[in-house]
Amino acid sequence: MQKLVATDHSVQISGLQKQFTRHDSGEVNRVIDDVSFAVPKNSFFTLLGPSGCGKTTTLRCLAGLETADRGEIWMNGQAVFSAAAGRDVPPDSRPIAMVPQSYGIWPHMKVFDNAAFPLRYGRKTYPRPETQRRVLTMLEQVGLSEYADRWSTQLSGGQQQRLALARALLCEPEVLLLDEPLSNLDAKLRSQLRTELRSFQQKFGVTTIYVTHDQGEALAMSDTIVVMNRGRIEQIGSPSEIYDSPATRFVADFVGSANLIPGVLDRPAGSRDRVVDAKTTLGVVRCERFTTPPAPPTAGQEIFVCVRPENIRVITASREAEGPNRFPGRIMTAEYLGDRQEMVVTVGDVTLRAHADAHFDAHPGDDVTVVLDPAWTVALWS
Ligand code: ATP
Repeated sequence: MQKLVATDHSVQISGLQKQFTRHDSGEVNRVIDDVSFAVPKNSFFTLLGPSGCGKTTTLRCLAGLETADRGEIWMNGQAVFSAAAGRDVPPDSRPIAMVPQSYGIWPHMKVFDNAAFPLRYGRKTYPRPETQRRVLTMLEQVGLSEYADRWSTQLSGGQQQRLALARALLCEPEVLLLDEPLSNLDAKLRSQLRTELRSFQQKFGVTTIYVTHDQGEALAMSDTIVVMNRGRIEQIGSPSEIYDSPATRFVADFVGSANLIPGVLDRPAGSRDRVVDAKTTLGVVRCERFTTPPAPPTAGQEIFVCVRPENIRVITASREAEGPNRFPGRIMTAEYLGDRQEMVVTVGDVTLRAHADAHFDAHPGDDVTVVLDPAWTVALWS
């Protein structure tokens, strides 16, 4: 089979499709629908989306635990799956290691034996002294060397997670697949371990594909995020691209908190235009951010304006209209949070969530001016 993938990508998926059919009703559920992406070598690549959007199924197709109906999967320049060519390399012959949500640690084994398992029975086995050396070095690197002789059930949640990671890394995989590995841990440990996981990934330089429904985790850890919804890709980008320039309403709403205001395009935006003006019930809103439109935009077409609360300023009511995106509003609620106030402000019949200065002296019922920062106001095409 021909080599398709650029060598700077560890994994490439193209046109992947997978459906399940219910035995009782015969109802067909397409859980992955034309999914394509390329994962750069040594990067931390995250599949993010709500429960049921098809993240785990995509990961299982990569691992070879699920067989897709259509499409291709390439790893290191080799096709490991091609529906058209009838090729499906079994999981143990793919250059991957997977850490499932439950960690898959054997309770009847000690920590050392759990970690050593792939070196004794896996793809590549080693003589005893070499196994011993590799396992102890790895346990040291993940901070578990003093636990080597403990039963794995005696480890805390965080330690089990590190053991699962150590065992996966001992397989020397080209690609590490992680399915919500932090979801069983409490909030404090999650945030500590996500930093740790990211630094392990950088230390070992292993291409990592990470599945999560937690947008905070995805933003904090990833080089690239794929946002999925109902089996389809909504957007692929860096954390700041996803957060600051969402491509769709779904992304804007799922990642972070967003005010979404319906409107129509005031005038056709040319391909060189850096600004989109939207007519909304607030008035004309200038948007200096937008992704490439799927089709040439036309005046009057329906769009959405997206602006995050931190990009709306609430200031003393002023009659002067200096600059764009200033609208008269009224404070409905104000919550003091120490470093800022979170406010709900109405402008006509539009309700906006906004942040105000912690010491801004205004109260519910007061008239104010809201300013939507044009540089951070996004026009959404869908
Ligand atoms: P979660 O975060 O809850 O794990 P997910 O995004 O990983 O969600 P998947 O586990 O990929 O979602 O599931 C996608 C859809 O496919 C769900 O509706 C699920 O019920 C369905 N599904 C998954 N596996 C099967 C199966 N073996 N048979 C039938 N339906 C399945």
